[in-house]
Amino acid sequence: MTKHAIISGGSIGGLFAATALLKAGWHVDIYERTEVELSGRGAGIVTHDTLNNALRAVGADLTDLGVQVQDRVAFHKDGSRVATLPYPQIVTSWDRIHQMLRRLVPDGAYHLGKHITGYTQTADNVSALFSNGTTRTADLLVGADGFRSAIRGQMLPDIKPQYVGYVVWRALAHERDLPSDVHSAIFPNFAFFTPSQSQIIGYPIAGQNNDLREGNRRYNFVWYAPAPAELLRDMLTDETGQHHPISIPPPLVRDAVLQDMQERAKATLPAGFVEILSRSERPFFTPIYDHHSPVMHDGRVALSGDAACVARPHVGMGVTKAAEDALCLAKHAATSLETYSQTRVPASLRAHLQARELGSWMLEEDAQNADGSSHVRLTEIMRLTAATVA
Ligand SMILES: Cc1cc2nc3c(=O)[nH]c(=O)nc-3n(C[C@H](O)[C@H](O)[C@H](O)COP(=O)(O)OP(=O)(O)OC[C@H]3O[C@@H](n4cnc5c(N)ncnc54)[C@H](O)[C@@H]3O)c2cc1C
Repeated sequence: MTKHAIISGGSIGGLFAATALLKAGWHVDIYERTEVELSGRGAGIVTHDTLNNALRAVGADLTDLGVQVQDRVAFHKDGSRVATLPYPQIVTSWDRIHQMLRRLVPDGAYHLGKHITGYTQTADNVSALFSNGTTRTADLLVGADGFRSAIRGQMLPDIKPQYVGYVVWRALAHERDLPSDVHSAIFPNFAFFTPSQSQIIGYPIAGQNNDLREGNRRYNFVWYAPAPAELLRDMLTDETGQHHPISIPPPLVRDAVLQDMQERAKATLPAGFVEILSRSERPFFTPIYDHHSPVMHDGRVALSGDAACVARPHVGMGVTKAAEDALCLAKHAATSLETYSQTRVPASLRAHLQARELGSWMLEEDAQNADGSSHVRLTEIMRLTAATVA
């Protein structure tokens, strides 16, 4: 008889789990708590061979995957180049990958506005519990419900994501809006600016509706900036005075917070990046949290993607890690979730630790390097950022 999996969370991790299980002959149902189809606000995602192979394995069509970049370039605050590393790579967007996977899941199997709060299980089956009081029973439950996972909260109540002391500001500028000098110096490159205690990463991605034509693309601006707990609390407080613990919806970020960020950008960043920022759609920020689960299963329940472990975005492995979880899960789900867990826990930990190390290099204090000219780890940062962690 066909086995049935329930998946909590319909973002990229949930879709990867669903498509891999479908390929392995399972019947799947995804339950996503958000009421409307998800959107990544155009956020950029760096691809790796591992990710591309996983997309092919679940049946995705990789045509027009993204923008090809050739070089990684580190900049001085004065706009000159500090270092260049040839590193051909395709950079794409969260929306593009989400669309590629979403179309592989039948509409009848993707349920919006359904919030899973926990589970019960017997030797024969597992039941997902919904916030409206209903339950659904299946052979397998996958917690792909992100870093604040309700499934992990029940499975591993002691594992709590920890704020790491900095946020990432993200923004997108339309290619056609950039001055020609900024465009020619920065736009085609995977760019870095690595002053003491901060970091910029930037790269081109497709325009609206995956438009890859020159002039129609966008530049993805990513700026890691320290925010001690007290400052973060202020940044997470909206105009009405309401504090949003963990993260704040972008439209609710106060104008004063945006203005303060723009002023710090002017004082810290090369003029070309300040231009990109000033011509971007409303920037938004995400606080960075760490967590890692020592096991990824409990009976018939498995964790995958960010629910199991977060690798900070420095390694650009969030999507790739979720893809590898999914393929491994599909391989072992019918026989041994323990083998799944034993395989994926150490692999996730490697990505998690590499990301933490990159984060710690970024936070190193060095008065000589306020202009980004002399980070002692620059070569390693350029080589290991958004690179596959084996
Ligand atoms: C909008 C968005 C933008 C992103 N941008 C980037 C980026 O630029 N770079 C990068 O590396 N990574 C980014 N990520 C993270 C990256 O996509 C993830 O690391 C990777 O996709 C794996 O995520 P995930 O599906 O495991 O978790 P998430 O992306 O966090 O998704 C979890 C999903 O589960 C749903 N959910 C949560 N709780 C419940 C519940 N109780 N019941 C039902 N559903 C629930 C959430 O609504 C969400 O859709 C982004 C994620 C999102 C959602």
